[in-house]
Amino acid sequence: MVKAVVGANWGDEGKGKITDMLARESDIIIRFQGGANAGHTIVNNYGKFALHTLPSGVFYGHTTNIIGNGVALNIPILIEEIRSITDRGVPAPRILVSDRAQIVMPYHILLDQYEEERLGGRSFGSTKSGIAPFYSDKYAKIGFQVSELFDEELLGKKVVGVCEIKNVLFTHLYHKPAIDPEELLTVLHEYKEMIAPYVCDVSSYLDQAVRDGKNILLEGQLGTLKDPDHGIYPMVTSSSTLAAYGAIGAGIAPYEIRQVITVCKAYSSAVGAGAFVSEIFGEQADELRRRGGDGGEFGATTGRPRRMGWFDCVASRYGCRLQGTTDVAFTVLDVLGYLDEIPVCIGYEIDGEVTTDFPVTPMLERARPVLKTLPGWKEDIRGIRKYEELPENCRRYVEFIEQQIGYPITMVSNGPGREDIIYRESMLHK
Ligand code: GDP
Repeated sequence: MVKAVVGANWGDEGKGKITDMLARESDIIIRFQGGANAGHTIVNNYGKFALHTLPSGVFYGHTTNIIGNGVALNIPILIEEIRSITDRGVPAPRILVSDRAQIVMPYHILLDQYEEERLGGRSFGSTKSGIAPFYSDKYAKIGFQVSELFDEELLGKKVVGVCEIKNVLFTHLYHKPAIDPEELLTVLHEYKEMIAPYVCDVSSYLDQAVRDGKNILLEGQLGTLKDPDHGIYPMVTSSSTLAAYGAIGAGIAPYEIRQVITVCKAYSSAVGAGAFVSEIFGEQADELRRRGGDGGEFGATTGRPRRMGWFDCVASRYGCRLQGTTDVAFTVLDVLGYLDEIPVCIGYEIDGEVTTDFPVTPMLERARPVLKTLPGWKEDIRGIRKYEELPENCRRYVEFIEQQIGYPITMVSNGPGREDIIYRESMLHK
């Protein structure tokens, strides 16, 4: 049985927590896209962790954690992350890395930095992790697969060829020092030693695992609105954030993905530039940011303050639809307990007309939120384990949003810990 945990919005919906929670019943957890540019925050009995590359199943001894071929693999960051968790008492996790995963090269990270410098104020708000240059090279067919590290002759030739191309950009566009192919080769030899213990033919491994009836969890990064095709292009990430891509980025049959758990946060947050219709500002935003998540809404990788907003039904319905949602996990609901009234965005007004369909980017830039205000519940709901025991206004909030987005909310998260979860039977479509 293969399940996917993905985000409906801009990322930071709390996927890490839901994945960590579902990992208890999983044999295998797989990252299938993205790189070390975003992070998941997980709170468990070992402490609080920000993971960037490792799948969120690494805290359970019984799991196998896989970096799929779709991931942008930063080898030193992966090794450092393994060390950072084992240093804090987590038993060494079982990790496999696809022999077809491609490697984030040192020059990808430099290119990200140089390009941001060149763009100045017109930048995209990149995390400068080399992700966009990495995926550009992958599709330009000048990327390096993990397997290529183990073919010395091929590697030597390829490094020389790629440096020729990159050095034109480095010296002429960016006016920076050229890359030395010999030095780069030395780095790649180090990468080879670091990654060798983990390399595996992942799709073949997973084929057997599916046949053996293992429980497999695909872990997405970011959310629908950051998808390069269906998101707010060009303010998107460089690999698909959709559950469907799990089949490609892990190497399994698409029809094996039976359950798609789409994570929606009870309010909105976003990082980086781009249209954000339900965004709020000033003291209102500061307060939600301060109270949000577990210790404030600040980037897990960059520490940047996140942009804040009310729940957006238009974006979330669209986000759930593109994921092929079977279940919605509605997270961080406890945080809203301080508000007397809670505005929710139920439509977009664009050029004088109201729509509930999420538009293409040029129209999105002109959209204004249509808000509906729901009563707050003014109570701390942490620790509640049964849906019926939530305050009435809190249940109304959940049910209103479920009606608006049209996908069943079957899990409500009311705290950062593994046990802070309420399962509910959805009345939608009944
Ligand atoms: P992800 O990348 O989608 O996993 O999201 P992040 O890790 O960036 O953001 C989620 C944050 O909210 C983390 O700090 C989590 O510990 C925290 N969190 C997750 N679920 C809940 C919840 O239900 N309530 C509260 N208060 N915090 C939560």
